[in-house]
Amino acid sequence: MHDPKASTAHIINGKAFALKLREKIAAKVPDFVKASGRKPGLAVILVGDDPASKVYVGSKGKATIAAGMNSFEHLLPANVAQEDLIALVKKLNDDDAVDGILVQLPLPDGLNEQEVIAALDPDKDVDGLHVINAGRLVSGQKAMVPCTPLGCQILLKDYLGDLSGLNAVVLGRSILVGKPMAQLLLNENCTVTMAHSRTKNLPDVVRAADIVVAAVGRPEMVKADWLKAGAIVIDVGINRLAPTDSKPKGRLVGDVDTHNAMAHVKAITPVPGGVGPMTIACLLRNTLLAAHRRNAIDDPEI
Ligand code: NDP
Repeated sequence: MHDPKASTAHIINGKAFALKLREKIAAKVPDFVKASGRKPGLAVILVGDDPASKVYVGSKGKATIAAGMNSFEHLLPANVAQEDLIALVKKLNDDDAVDGILVQLPLPDGLNEQEVIAALDPDKDVDGLHVINAGRLVSGQKAMVPCTPLGCQILLKDYLGDLSGLNAVVLGRSILVGKPMAQLLLNENCTVTMAHSRTKNLPDVVRAADIVVAAVGRPEMVKADWLKAGAIVIDVGINRLAPTDSKPKGRLVGDVDTHNAMAHVKAITPVPGGVGPMTIACLLRNTLLAAHRRNAIDDPEI
């Protein structure tokens, strides 16, 4: 049985890993500049003034510039017309200085996200949300893979090496995280179960897993006694708890009850400092890959 006082799990330090990955990416940029005569470029479109989205876009821009790439920010008002937003996407599709385009989601009410994503050039779709990229991923072709599940896969491979034959349970089936995550684990020869809000006996399903990826958006939902002893846990969830006197902004927690799981599992990603930083590093990686592929240059080894 687990003993919450004995913290034995290895903490998978996504923050440190992401920093190293960003350094590796930055080190490859000069080769691209030499081969193509220009820097890789990432365009980010932010519609409206949602404070959290503004913070995300700001940190993506800073990280892009720090990696030696060009960052182009396009800020549009919340009441922008759908046609004008799509016209901007098409203009960026045709702009040779732009290798990657990211539309910060969610879009304000009244705008059709599916239509905007469908307008993206799939080769510039660094978030991997276009149906062409989903299809490429499923059929084993070179795809732009969504950044968050890609970051989880990289952390798992770094920690475990070969994932073949392991039982993996992915909690959550969103287009952004759960579905591509399950596909990536299948590509690694895991036996994959996808769980969701209609799954019966969820604790029992999770208990069968050697690898658990939790992406549900429910604070500390996955309890220690749902986890098999020795499991590897990747906690994607980012949930802000209600403010308290000591944490006036509210504490950030994941989807896993990490404190109690620590004594029980083999390794776990913390929140914050686990998967989150890997998402931005993978965005830079996808931008560099897109730049190479668009210029018919071999993928860099990262
Ligand atoms: P979505 O809301 O799109 O999907 C949530 C999924 O969880 C759904 O498939 C839903 O099932 C499932 N779910 C919800 N409640 C339960 C439950 N009680 N039991 C089992 N399954 C449940 O979220 P996202 O995939 O976009 O994000 C998930 C979490 O990851 C969020 O906390 C988000 O903030 C975080 N996130 C973190 C990122 C990072 O960089 N670290 C990036 C992206 C997301 P159903 O389909 O049946 O409704």
